Amino acid sequence: MSELRFKAVETAISRLNNNKTQETHKPSSYYCKNVFTTAKMKEYLPKNAYAELMETIDEGKAISHDLAEHISQAMKSWAISNGVTHYTHWFQPLTGATAEKHDAFFEPQSDGTAIDKFTASALVQQEPDASSFPSGGIRNTFEARGYTGWDPSSPAFIFETGGSKTLCIPTIFISYTGEALDYKAPLLKAVNALDKAAVDVANFFDKSITKVNASLGIEQEYFLVDLALFNARPDLQLTGRTLFGHMSAKGQQLEDHYFGAIPERVLAFMVDLEQEALKLGIPLKTRHNEVAPSQFECAPMFEEINLAIDHNQLLLNLMDQVALRHKFKVLIHEKPYKDINGSGKHNNWSMITNTGVNLLSPGKTPKNNLMFLTFFVNVIKAVHDNADLLRASIASAANDHRLGANEAPPAIISIFLGSQLNAVLDEVETARVAKKVKNETLLWHGIPKIPELQLDNTDRNRTSPFAFTGNKFELRAVGSSANSASPMTVLSAIVANQLIEFKVEVDKQIKKGTKKDLALLNVVRKYIKESKAIRFEGNGYSKEWEEEAMKRGLSNIKTTPKALDVYVSEKTIELFNRLGVLTKRESEARHEILLENYYKKIQIEARVYGEIVNSLIAPAALDYQNELIANVKGLKEIGLKADAYSSQVDLIERISTHVNTILTEAEAMRQERKKANVLEDIREKAIAYDEQVKPYFDKIRYHINKLEQIVDDRKWPLPKLRELLFVR
Ligand code: ADP
Ligand code: MG
Repeated sequence: MSELRFKAVETAISRLNNNKTQETHKPSSYYCKNVFTTAKMKEYLPKNAYAELMETIDEGKAISHDLAEHISQAMKSWAISNGVTHYTHWFQPLTGATAEKHDAFFEPQSDGTAIDKFTASALVQQEPDASSFPSGGIRNTFEARGYTGWDPSSPAFIFETGGSKTLCIPTIFISYTGEALDYKAPLLKAVNALDKAAVDVANFFDKSITKVNASLGIEQEYFLVDLALFNARPDLQLTGRTLFGHMSAKGQQLEDHYFGAIPERVLAFMVDLEQEALKLGIPLKTRHNEVAPSQFECAPMFEEINLAIDHNQLLLNLMDQVALRHKFKVLIHEKPYKDINGSGKHNNWSMITNTGVNLLSPGKTPKNNLMFLTFFVNVIKAVHDNADLLRASIASAANDHRLGANEAPPAIISIFLGSQLNAVLDEVETARVAKKVKNETLLWHGIPKIPELQLDNTDRNRTSPFAFTGNKFELRAVGSSANSASPMTVLSAIVANQLIEFKVEVDKQIKKGTKKDLALLNVVRKYIKESKAIRFEGNGYSKEWEEEAMKRGLSNIKTTPKALDVYVSEKTIELFNRLGVLTKRESEARHEILLENYYKKIQIEARVYGEIVNSLIAPAALDYQNELIANVKGLKEIGLKADAYSSQVDLIERISTHVNTILTEAEAMRQERKKANVLEDIREKAIAYDEQVKPYFDKIRYHINKLEQIVDDRKWPLPKLRELLFVR
């Protein structure tokens, strides 16, 4: 087995110096090459059909069957002219991955000829065999059927794998009874609710605003590892992370990787990835090294929220595919290596009107500032009132390793505003505003001027899970492998709900005779007071903050099974129901799926530990121990005294201790698993896995790492962290 390790290292090293970066000419010449953009629709659709489509999109209306027929024909012509043979509905089931089922355009005729066929109904709806996607019991009780339904707001694209080209049509995925089985359907509903609520509030300031789009820019962190080394580590293969491994002598302590020069082989991968992404309309803009060795990041230009999420999901697929060409494996897990930084997916979020105004961008006039403050403070209040729900939306077995591990935001949700905006809010809160303003100018004294905000990086608080960064909020606690739709559905929903409540309060005051601007300011001031506890400017990684947060009454739920409880609280169910985002049944189903996913992840890791301990580590250690024993016997035989081999005897003893410990702990862990497996209540089961099974991981890891440090390097069967991290 140790042969595999050395072969892998050799292979990886041999790949280091033959990577030519192929930066091709102008990106503008291939941007969106594989996307059915509106420009292409214009080319392929009859004139009046195109006009009708633009109208429908503008007004957010449903697309008629006739129009869908035109679009399907146009799509087919475009796709076939690009060498496409198959089409698929492309959707995001609750597995976390994307799913597709390919159908051929080709259709044989009775006379022995064949045609290419793609109809409106094939575009609009498909019926994949859905019985093996997670449904949280929804489909068991009703029909085993699921439907995918076209999402015209996200353009179709061509994806190429293994030389075959497929037309992919972004869709939602619902059960026969109309319940959401995916991430997209509730997201679209939440975004819609936010649009309505934000327009209503924006109309206090500007009647010409008719639409508010949430915008999202997703920064994606990831690790790269050589493919051969990856394949020699069963834990990486099966769980996405290393379950053990002594940290290499050099880790990230020199802080020499962040923004450092990108290794040539990695750069070749990045350039290739960017080109492929641009062809698919994913506007990747930045690339750089991250904090940990072999950790990198890429980020696109922000887009409309639904599209940004589709593009991020597509990007994950693309990264996998492009990495293979470069003989890399992309690690998207939140914490592939224990003692160095993990990976996140920062979600930069804002709201932008149809008139082009970013509602989270401070204005220049007092009136604009009041509009900014209104939206700004409503977001803060929404997060304050629903911090637990936001926490739940980013909870997963993998992200549990990251949150609160002193390198990512803690599990405590707080908001960082920066000193300038904090001062502004304090000023608004304490400003004296007359109850009845006769003179307009007096009112505006209550609204401080907002200084030009520094948008550069230096002012950032990297320890905050939710930070204001000049003209947007950045939710930094999202895990690198998460589907952003989960937190973005929650964020959109809670802000929508908050804006609805805000409008009710303001309207009430106006009805009582308070002037509109004063009424707005009054409610803003009230919210500033009520949401103060969530604002925190200090070091989010510190012990003191945990204590302070507790005093403030903020929750700090460290593990997933309990963080998820809030999904089925009365308050959440009511909130989602009121906004039409999820029904009670859908919320309950999601809760169940997430718990199931959690315990299964831990269960797999536990099994892999068992296998590695028993069949790889213990045998290697015992093999070395036998050599030591032979050595000691030999030394004794030739008449040396005991102190000539005392170190060897000491090693023999230590190996015995560590081997015994890992074998007994692995067996004890197996017994705990057996107990957890018979629990019927899914929440109890997840908690048992978290509290009874998972604690063995660190114990076993500790002793394996000790063995790694003493066993003969030539006998160590699995690539070491220094090999995984530094051969690149
Ligand atoms: P950072 O310093 O965190 O890298 P950037 O300004 O580069 O910050 O932005 C990071 C991400 O935020 C990018 O994807 C960018 O497009 C996005 N972004 C910028 N402005 C907005 C906005 N108004 N709404 C949403 N995302 C935005
Ligand atoms: Mg950022």
